Amino acid sequence: MSLASGSSGNCYYLGANGYGILIDAGIGIRRIKKTLKDSGIGLEQIMAAFITHDHIDHIQSIGSLAEKHDIPVYTTQKVNAGLNCGKYGKKLTFSRRIIEKENPVGIKDFEITAFNVPHDACDCVGYLVVYKQHKWVLATDVGHIDDTVSNYIRIANHLVVEANYDREMLQHGKYPAFLKSRISDGYGHLCNSETAVFLAANFNFHLKNIWLCHLSKENNRPELAYQTVETEMEKRGIRIGKDVNLNVLKRDMPSELFLLE
Ligand SMILES: [Zn+2]
Ligand SMILES: [Zn+2]
Repeated sequence: MSLASGSSGNCYYLGANGYGILIDAGIGIRRIKKTLKDSGIGLEQIMAAFITHDHIDHIQSIGSLAEKHDIPVYTTQKVNAGLNCGKYGKKLTFSRRIIEKENPVGIKDFEITAFNVPHDACDCVGYLVVYKQHKWVLATDVGHIDDTVSNYIRIANHLVVEANYDREMLQHGKYPAFLKSRISDGYGHLCNSETAVFLAANFNFHLKNIWLCHLSKENNRPELAYQTVETEMEKRGIRIGKDVNLNVLKRDMPSELFLLE
């Protein structure tokens, strides 16, 4: 389930029988609690929180999760060091865990692997979560799809991938020039067409679900992101809804709880 997705906050929940993990915690702790509770999930069932990078839209609540709820927070060494400098430094004394990229960590039946993602943050990662026969992959805040990101996307059965902006909307939008180039310079975010072209060109029939994430409020529209991917897929004869499901995650509303089978 996506609790929120976009530049104003990101948080994902993956659950199995009676327990689960969070990936990113970029919204308020009360909102995390309430959204989980609405789906019948208590915070005490959360075994761990894994962080992609230290931009505020991904880490807002890690202090409360770690401090008040004793939930271990997993980051790479460099992200952990970055957190020391920020306001979360003191709060995370006992509940920090360090992960290495490409080195899987087990949490009950989940096996979680961080992989490198090019982005304008220190040591940004994506995640592969393996549960039984399912491979779930998150690739968010992706400047460009390099070989590593590509390898992980291509093994996914269930893929959450960024479609941040529409090129035209960004170009003609009201963002200042420096911000426009920061977003699109290869270390910012993925645009709809980059994601669409890549997904269509690298489609595998083991991919069952795609969720487009981290949509910009200013420079994108959910229908546009959806159509861009659908059009590229259809050019190659891949049928949305038959060969693969396509969803767009909402910025500030939780998704339904998707059951993977
Ligand atoms: Zn972000
Ligand atoms: Zn970011």
